[in-house]
Amino acid sequence: MNRRLFLKNFCSTVAAAALCAIPATGFAEERVRSVNEKDLKDYLHIMANFDRPQPSDTILAPDRLILLNSTLKRLRRVQRTVGFGNFCVLSFDEAIRVAASYPSVGQFTEQEKDFLDETFNFDATVYGFYGEKPVTSLTSAASAKDLIKIPRTGNFLFRGDPHKKYLQIEKELGSSVYLTSGVRGIMKQFILFLSKAAANQGNLSLASRSLAPPGYSYHAVGDFDVGEKGLGAANFSSSFAETNTCTRLRELGYLKLRYPEDNLFGVRFEPWHIKV
Ligand SMILES: [Zn+2]
Repeated sequence: MNRRLFLKNFCSTVAAAALCAIPATGFAEERVRSVNEKDLKDYLHIMANFDRPQPSDTILAPDRLILLNSTLKRLRRVQRTVGFGNFCVLSFDEAIRVAASYPSVGQFTEQEKDFLDETFNFDATVYGFYGEKPVTSLTSAASAKDLIKIPRTGNFLFRGDPHKKYLQIEKELGSSVYLTSGVRGIMKQFILFLSKAAANQGNLSLASRSLAPPGYSYHAVGDFDVGEKGLGAANFSSSFAETNTCTRLRELGYLKLRYPEDNLFGVRFEPWHIKV
């Protein structure tokens, strides 16, 4: 079956109109070509239950989980030491330096450094994440002169298009909208991804359904998240789709989504994520 026909059949079968709007590039195209209808149904079932463990999930071996936990604890100590905001833009090399300089953190062991390196360089499609990888070097670092701290949010944005886009959103939506997550360097993405995996017994597949693995997040290169004031953590849940803020963002054309509903990247629907 050719791809066009396949898409047509799939969309009429499962009524996933948004799927048809996915640009046919990279992994997603590969997946559309290779996957059969039953697999797609299974996939959509898993994504509808993205935060629950599934029989097909990839789970870390017990010895790797121990290493994950010790690495994560050290990253959290680095975060406490440099502050939450600064940690968002901390590079791998800086994290290693901070750990070595503060006895309260303690240096990363060789095993922990290898764990970070191996996790970063591991092919995420193996555990079900099919998004692209905009950052390919573990040691990539944002330059301070390219960053701007956004007052009262604890987050940074890149100067230029991302910052301009955020200011425009603020101007058009008013004071109810705010930046919930801006630039996330590799270390920040590590702490988020590993925390989610640790809370789920080392389940990498489950973690990657709601958090891009380190290197795969566009937060490292310009994208950001916005939320509605007063909604708190629910800004990162399906509740956000029902807010006035989300409706306004859609009406004004800001929701050109990186991960639309029923996407094929293995990522839950993220209407709060602004693609730059
Ligand atoms: Zn995001």
